[in-house]
Amino acid sequence: MGCVAYFKNLYQMCVSILVGMQVTIGYFLHPKKTCVTLQYPHVCEPLPERHRGIHYLETEKCIMCQLCAKTCPVNCIRIESTRDGELLYGYKSKNGHLSRFTVDYGRCLFCNLCTEVCTPKCLHMQPVAERPYKDEFDFSATTRLGVLKNLLSDKRYTAEDHHRVKVCRVESKKLAEVKKQKTQEA
Ligand code: SF4
Ligand code: SF4
Repeated sequence: MGCVAYFKNLYQMCVSILVGMQVTIGYFLHPKKTCVTLQYPHVCEPLPERHRGIHYLETEKCIMCQLCAKTCPVNCIRIESTRDGELLYGYKSKNGHLSRFTVDYGRCLFCNLCTEVCTPKCLHMQPVAERPYKDEFDFSATTRLGVLKNLLSDKRYTAEDHHRVKVCRVESKKLAEVKKQKTQEA
């Protein structure tokens, strides 16, 4: 390759790099005009006006029928409860004690089917702007557990809640055994 051809190739290569970088340089020089990202989760896009909102439960009205959980097409409602007695960390419902009632917003479709089937009408979806409590659930989290909402405390589901659910599970088994024994003796 001659000297002229060599420099011609070099020139063409530089031109093609500059042409390819035109878009990048444009974004680099005007970051404010062209910025399309948000500092999520610290900054969030506002939710659409017609967003159905997130769930809340009137615990004392719940009859623990599990219909909402069975209807959910993505299986994101988890309910644990007992009708055999009182649980130390339980929440009183209409005819027993609930120890867990969570919705997994990592999976929820916001289809509203769960609230429609609830016979006593105690499960609701509420627009985010109308939430009355301060500890706002904003759908963002850095852990898998963090995208679960505890409808019993109306807050994010925590590791402590998870521990309490496990304690209640053991309690429920004991209560069921006591009930069984009493039935056999009678
Ligand atoms: S809104 Fe739909 S997807 Fe979400 S918990 Fe209810 S039934 Fe399941
Ligand atoms: S359908 Fe209603 S009453 Fe039945 S478990 Fe769900 S919230 Fe409770």
